[in-house]
Amino acid sequence: MALEPVEALSRLGSSVEKARVGMGILSGRDRWVDANARLCELLGYSREELLALGRTDTTHPGDLTAETKELTRVKKGETGSTQLEERYRLRDGGALWVSVTAARTRADDPLATDLLLIVQDLTARRQSQRGLSVQHLVSQIIAESKSAPDTLRTVLAEVGQTLRWSYATYWELDRGADALRPLQSWTSADRSFAEFDRKTKAIEFKRGEGFPGRIWETGRPYWESDLAGPAAYPRSAEASAEGLHSAFGIPIRTADRFFGVLEFFAEDVLPPDQALLNAAQGVGYQLGEFLERARAMLSEHESEVRKASILDTALDSIITIDQTGSIIEFNPAAEAAFGYRKEDVIGRQMVDLIIPPRHRDAHRHGMKRYLATGEAHVLGRRIEIEGMRADHSEFPIELAIVRVPLPGPAFFTAYMRDLTERKRLEVEQARLLKDSEEANRAKSEFLATMSHELRTPLNAISGYTELLKMGIRGPVTEAQVADLDRIKRSQAHLLGIINDILQFAKLEVGQLEISVEDFSVNAALGVTKELVAPLLEAKKLSYTYQRGDESVTVRADRDRFQQIVLNLLSNAIKFTPKKGKITVSWHLNEDNVVIEVADTGIGIDASQLDRIFDPFIQVQSGPTRTSEGVGLGLAISRDMARQMGGDITVRSESRRGSTFSLVLPRGA
Ligand code: ADP
Repeated sequence: MALEPVEALSRLGSSVEKARVGMGILSGRDRWVDANARLCELLGYSREELLALGRTDTTHPGDLTAETKELTRVKKGETGSTQLEERYRLRDGGALWVSVTAARTRADDPLATDLLLIVQDLTARRQSQRGLSVQHLVSQIIAESKSAPDTLRTVLAEVGQTLRWSYATYWELDRGADALRPLQSWTSADRSFAEFDRKTKAIEFKRGEGFPGRIWETGRPYWESDLAGPAAYPRSAEASAEGLHSAFGIPIRTADRFFGVLEFFAEDVLPPDQALLNAAQGVGYQLGEFLERARAMLSEHESEVRKASILDTALDSIITIDQTGSIIEFNPAAEAAFGYRKEDVIGRQMVDLIIPPRHRDAHRHGMKRYLATGEAHVLGRRIEIEGMRADHSEFPIELAIVRVPLPGPAFFTAYMRDLTERKRLEVEQARLLKDSEEANRAKSEFLATMSHELRTPLNAISGYTELLKMGIRGPVTEAQVADLDRIKRSQAHLLGIINDILQFAKLEVGQLEISVEDFSVNAALGVTKELVAPLLEAKKLSYTYQRGDESVTVRADRDRFQQIVLNLLSNAIKFTPKKGKITVSWHLNEDNVVIEVADTGIGIDASQLDRIFDPFIQVQSGPTRTSEGVGLGLAISRDMARQMGGDITVRSESRRGSTFSLVLPRGA
């Protein structure tokens, strides 16, 4: 006959009652049917209270599923006994870590499903162990980690699971905003804290604010047994509403850098676990060091990537060598220029690969000297030298070698630019320049010859016109004489133009002969009025010559001097309307004589001032435009002035007049 459960325990006698371990019997339907004093004490119930409860009341909800599974195996006889580490729910709502050993009370009767449970308080053992196990866990996660976000995600989940806490968040310090922001959260598999989760993800904390902010401020792990307690937090209401009570936070930091806070929540009201708190500080540093390393690696990686992309896209060949001259970097441009593949040249001597044999000794010598004495000839400078391709063909390169500015053994980076194209262009340019000079010369020679050829028939026209006018071929009427005069004027005009062209062409090819002498400025300018008197008269222009020091001489070619002054004067007359004023004057400027021809004419627009000295340039200026000239006068005059060591400049104002200055060296 089966024993009554109470009998079963009491059979064990008073030793059971006095045992320091809890003992109890669960019926086949999971009701407590017996319990010793220690079990009642552990759970906080009186025996009567406990015997009115079932397993589901005393086992922590979070551990119930696992427990049911294990106990079922025992009940079914699949195993003689089992052992669990789990949490019991106490009368006051708190949780207690216990070790439970379960076995059937009557192993011989397959229908008897009562279970004897031996329950031991694990608080003390677990506390010291939990700290250690978390530390080991985190070390292991870090050791296996791929990336920082990965590691943090795993730490949240695994530490949460191990400690059987239900919700966890990593708060990352946003340095720009100087606030903690939720980066990742974890929720225990069978739980949901929708409101709390929503609130957590929508909030950020300044230093000292909320639970994470407090941990940031103190830099130490912190434990809050009941969030609903007196120290109310911004998320306390949501936490309480969804059954989260205890909070535990770890600052993630190194000695001098703070990264963020790991925060865990439990559904139970848990007293602070000192062993875990102690371990947490270590875990926080461990993770801090890890994040620091990850950060350093990231920036190193970034600079590697940056460097790689610079090297890859550079148009210049870039080769880095160590102090033994071995190649350690060879970019794509270098591959293309020298015809080697990077993997074939790494570790080989740069000198032997890309420098022609005749330059190698000098190069090696220079490198040795630099390493021994620090004295550099090539380093930091740009030199032109020949490079050698894989097929031993040579090509011109511009080479600059710099020492990589890093402490430790010397590295050098050589930047090389293929000059083949530039050299080709230089040769091409020189050829083009020569060609165009020759073409210009040919043109001027052609003009000179042609002008000369044109002058002969023009002179004939003039001669025969004179003969006809004189009546040598028979009497001429008055009307015919007038026509002959027109022919003569046209001939004279045409001859003037041709003379200009001829003179210009001669100037261009340097055939115009110039013979300088010193002569009196006053004497030379005193006679010019006579030469232009008819023109002045025709336009009723006033003419003034301001004489200067009689003893001053100018050093010039007399005829050219006269030609230039006449040219300036006839322009002045040409571009000055009737009753205007022409003034010729001169003064000394240092060792120069400056002759000025001023008029009160139409002037020259500022935008045209630069152009009027160019050959064949005539400024279009409305009705005063005359058909005389071809725009060579000023070009010729200035060329001649310059050939005599002087120049011509102009000041002018539209509609007010112009002043041309002829500058020539003063005579002795
Ligand atoms: P040309 O007189 O045969 O046209 P120039 O070389 O002597 O050629 O002069 C070039 C142009 O400069 C003239 O066409 C005219 O537009 C301008 N120019 C020269 N001298 C004067 C002046 N004194 N006043 C106004 N315009 C002038």
